[in-house]
Amino acid sequence: MAPSPAITVKIDLSRVRQNARQLRDRCGVPILATIKADAYGLGAIEISEAIADLVEGFCVFRLREAIGARLHERTGRRVLTFGPPESLEADDHLRHGVCPAVSNVVQATALRDCNPVLCLDTGMQRFACRPADAAEVIHAGHIHEAFTHATNERQLAIFLQTLGGLGLRLHAAGSSMLETPEARLDAVRPGFALYRSAVRVSTPLVEARDTNGPLGYTALHAIRHGVILGGYACGLAPGPCLVNGRPARLIECGMQSSYVELDPRDRAGDEVVLLGDELDEKAIAATWQVTPHQALLRLAGSGIRTYSR
Ligand SMILES: *Cc1c(COP(=O)(O)O)cnc(C)c1O
Repeated sequence: MAPSPAITVKIDLSRVRQNARQLRDRCGVPILATIKADAYGLGAIEISEAIADLVEGFCVFRLREAIGARLHERTGRRVLTFGPPESLEADDHLRHGVCPAVSNVVQATALRDCNPVLCLDTGMQRFACRPADAAEVIHAGHIHEAFTHATNERQLAIFLQTLGGLGLRLHAAGSSMLETPEARLDAVRPGFALYRSAVRVSTPLVEARDTNGPLGYTALHAIRHGVILGGYACGLAPGPCLVNGRPARLIECGMQSSYVELDPRDRAGDEVVLLGDELDEKAIAATWQVTPHQALLRLAGSGIRTYSR
């Protein structure tokens, strides 16, 4: 996807800080901030800098994400990688302050000198250790921290049954389980919840006109419509938007432009909000039939990023 130069993606870093502070105070345990995939498209460097003093560490998927953003070097915080280790040399991780997730004896043994973290499979069934093998992996890696990717109470129960009472540091909750107090354990790993209400995506109407007969590629009907300079090439799809603060719709997307259904009062130059203000990821995701995470990632990548502090 290529961002459209006509679309502005405004990221409010003070809001991300406020989210981090509120989460920390509400959960009462340290935050391991998930900033994988370039902080869901918002910029891992800028996000990590903004919240470094509020979090214990950062989580990414791959070692190369930690190296690319120089996460440990810039923030002094430790970094956890969720994905399968990209290297079985302890030094590759140690040098960058990275604690890799491990899920088998081979990985745990090779990486035992860089504080590996056991990733337990409680239902996701991908790059994680089966509960039956956990003791062996813990022993092989001299492990004292473990996590699971839990999205429900049943997974949390399996996690605690397998690893509770062993003296390990445990964490399970991302954004989806933050509201479950029993899931908070020794730390939480929110991603999405850190970015809530911190992103505003907007673009001006380059045209606004009364519609003259069937419109666009698919002969749509409208009374008045406008055009914006972004389409499916930058990730947009038909769905809700706001024009002059009122709910409106992107009714059709071309490759690099889209049609917006307008109100008689709307004019060229008026602002179309694609995310933010009264429009959140959930509403867009429901129309696009994707997850809110995916909607955020696509919209964050749709235009030129700017930051306010
Ligand atoms: C992505 C991820 C998270 C964060 O998920 P959010 O829903 O964005 O909070 C936490 N833990 C693991 C293992 C993940 O992969």
